[in-house]
Amino acid sequence: MKFHASTISRVSQFRNKAPFSFHSSSKLSSNHKKRCNFGIAFDIDGVILRGRVPVGGSPQALRRLYGDSGELIVPYLFLTNGGGIPETKRAKELSELLGVNIMASQVVQGHSPFRNLLKKFENELIIATGKGDPALVMSEYGFKKVLSLEEFASYFESIDPVSQYKRWTTMPQSDRKEPAVPRYNVLSKRIKAAFVVSDPVDWGRDIQVLCDVLRSGGLPGGANNNQPPLYFAADDLEYQVRYCAYLCLMEINPKRLEYVTYGKPNPFVFKNAEVILSQLQSSSCQDHSKNNGVPGSHPFETLYMIGDNPSVDVKGAQQAGHPWFSILTRTGVFQGKDNHAEFPADLANLPYFFALPDQISPLVVQVVDSVEEAVDYILKRECIELRA
Ligand SMILES: [Mg+2]
Repeated sequence: MKFHASTISRVSQFRNKAPFSFHSSSKLSSNHKKRCNFGIAFDIDGVILRGRVPVGGSPQALRRLYGDSGELIVPYLFLTNGGGIPETKRAKELSELLGVNIMASQVVQGHSPFRNLLKKFENELIIATGKGDPALVMSEYGFKKVLSLEEFASYFESIDPVSQYKRWTTMPQSDRKEPAVPRYNVLSKRIKAAFVVSDPVDWGRDIQVLCDVLRSGGLPGGANNNQPPLYFAADDLEYQVRYCAYLCLMEINPKRLEYVTYGKPNPFVFKNAEVILSQLQSSSCQDHSKNNGVPGSHPFETLYMIGDNPSVDVKGAQQAGHPWFSILTRTGVFQGKDNHAEFPADLANLPYFFALPDQISPLVVQVVDSVEEAVDYILKRECIELRA
């Protein structure tokens, strides 16, 4: 077997170390608590779940991040552009589907950064739209005067000019009721901001109503050039195509509407995830000797982003820079044989070594097939570093 010069160099380094073995089915021992200077961010759709079904051995992979007593050892979170339900509810759902205890703080959805706007809009009238329960999401963040776009539209006759031709409704049967007296005086009070929380269900209506709200200064039918702020949870075009129409609308409008988007691949999302992982680290790690005993300020050497979408997960991690390291799986959007050409995952750039008790086996990995393989790779890599 021929080795590249740098390969030989790295192999010889490991030859001077005591050999070790790593059993993929084992959990981390409590010794690893002493140095969890790495963390993991998992994309959900196409990596952990497909629909509501676990994929890629995700339950087994996640269980390896806990100790024997079920305590969290490796700080990790879910970083998804999806959403539409509160993080508390999503964490409960994920816990049931995956068989581990997931905290709400470990679920970062596309709309999670909206809570940072609470100070600005806490007592202002706002509208929220998208699948699921967007108004509930915003209410749980603390916004006091939230209307779903659906409810808001119900107070304006013919605001959706084709509503009479629709033989379906976006509202569950149990929630359907005749328009009542508006909870807020929407006929005279301006909407101060609009939030696209998740995928639209009724695109036509949402675009129409948003146009009316935004171009009228927050009061449909009125005339006002002061456009209320418009916030998108994500502009994940390739995967979901979900905000394409909205964004196109912004582009073709003679007077461009202003908007702000969150979600991957925005580097802000990764910085925010880093802060949350630090908080998780301070509660899961025991050793703070490196930072004078101060919990939570221990710098990460590596943060792994495991995703299935090169232009969102990999690009985002690359833009965020150190300490992010991207790993691409083949269980979702990406199905290629080799690494992605435009946004190659970091995993392809590093030789992957692992040592068995009686031999050294170099292996170069392009991408991994599943999240289970990705976690296996991470734990082996971190174990090598622990021994180095
Ligand atoms: Mg995905």
